[in-house]
Amino acid sequence: MNQHASAQDLGDLPDDEFRRLLQEVAGWVADYRAGIETRRVVPEHHPGAIIKELPAAPPEGGQPLDEILRDFDSVIMPGIVHWGHPAFLGYFATTTTAPGILGEMLTAALNVSAMTWQTSPAATELEIVVLDWMRQMLRLPREFQGVVYDTASVGLLHALAAAREELGFDVRREGLAGRPDVPALTLYASDQAHSSLEKAAITLGLGESNVRRISSDSEYKMNVDALRQAIEEDLRAARRPLAVIATVGTTSATSVDPVAEIADVCRKHRVWLHVDAAYGGAMALLEEGRHVMHGVERADSVIFNPHKWLFVPLDFSALYVRRPDSLRSVFSLVPEYLRGDAERANETVHNYMDYGIQLGRRFRALKAWFVIRAFGRKGLAARIREACRLARLVADWVKADERFELLAPVLMGVVCFRARALSIEVKEDFTGAVLDELNERLLANINATGAVYMTHTRLHGRLALRIAVGNVLTTEKHLAQAWELICNQLARLAVNNEGDKQLERRI
Ligand code: PLP
Repeated sequence: MNQHASAQDLGDLPDDEFRRLLQEVAGWVADYRAGIETRRVVPEHHPGAIIKELPAAPPEGGQPLDEILRDFDSVIMPGIVHWGHPAFLGYFATTTTAPGILGEMLTAALNVSAMTWQTSPAATELEIVVLDWMRQMLRLPREFQGVVYDTASVGLLHALAAAREELGFDVRREGLAGRPDVPALTLYASDQAHSSLEKAAITLGLGESNVRRISSDSEYKMNVDALRQAIEEDLRAARRPLAVIATVGTTSATSVDPVAEIADVCRKHRVWLHVDAAYGGAMALLEEGRHVMHGVERADSVIFNPHKWLFVPLDFSALYVRRPDSLRSVFSLVPEYLRGDAERANETVHNYMDYGIQLGRRFRALKAWFVIRAFGRKGLAARIREACRLARLVADWVKADERFELLAPVLMGVVCFRARALSIEVKEDFTGAVLDELNERLLANINATGAVYMTHTRLHGRLALRIAVGNVLTTEKHLAQAWELICNQLARLAVNNEGDKQLERRI
């Protein structure tokens, strides 16, 4: 394009071209979903391979969309991990769903910012309604009010900022630097809680060293006596306990902390209780799963990630606070240019920008509305229940095979296990690092096949393989195939190991 582009070169794509491309992309998306199983789950690319295929400088002139789409297929797609693949069993599975994709497409077309009511009344009001639907699904009391952030990590950061403001140190105005009147503020969570806690402590200037990791028991639940002791010790040292984070559905093993007991401790010492139900909150939709939320109604704040197990695509994380004003008092800051007509007319409107550091906010409620309406509460529950059934089934296969052992109770959609022997005939007495190495090799070999993708974790020092079920496309057939592959890979390791003297000596 020359420097003085003519008027028809500016603006957007012509309508007819956009319509044609839109249909092409829609067809691509449908084909991708329909044929996803035929792909490798993870690519074989090495770091930097994609960068090498891309020009180092941006194009000077515009390029045809057909060419961009071709490059998308030939350069980008080969480097994609297919989270929506039914054999993607890593992390917390995936929440890609057709209604979610449709909602996201429309969100992209609208591209509105849900920062104030005035910047898009429907975006704000739908967020209010969808969050209240979810509150009901979680069975939280009415006084809990929600706000959508991108992730649970960001939600926790906001909850802790609100907790700190409630202590009355007016950190919002005065900050922390050079203040002898502010003691060290301490945080407590089990050794199984998510690392977003340390990140929040770093960001809020509380300091990583003021995070107390409390031991967990043999089922990976927080040891409440140890929590009491840690709080009392900090109080004796004139530190001020700020918040306890109890988890419903921990990242590694989906364990559930004794929230009601922890709430008693928090009440006694007037400490903020934050419940991380980012993953496990979904269990509240099940009659038989509700018990995991026992005591959560006593929390000051609760985080729940529909992008983990409620089939709402990334990103959507809901923070519920019992006293919404506690959040507002930290984050409300309205420059003149953001004052809307409604405020000027003294009408009460909800401006989500008052509840967080973000001003521009994506219209995330739309995709959640699509998903909840398309599946219905019962449909959501049925899908969660099925994931639990499939996880228990995998656990049964693990228990029935003497070469493997379960490493945690299967409470939700996740199975933690490991290989403990190479074969049934030779019952080696493997220990420690050798077992870890065996399982690391097994995992690497499984994932290298491209047919299945699993991740690992460490549970009380032991390396565990993890299978997370939760993708709506994952069925018993996929898990049976995955299990067969796991068994075959272990058998291959046993055969290959005969020639591997070094490992043989240690295993
Ligand atoms: N809490 C739990 C229990 C998690 O498992 C995770 C992530 O896996 C998080 C919080 C952080 O979630 P996000 O990625 O939304 O920040």
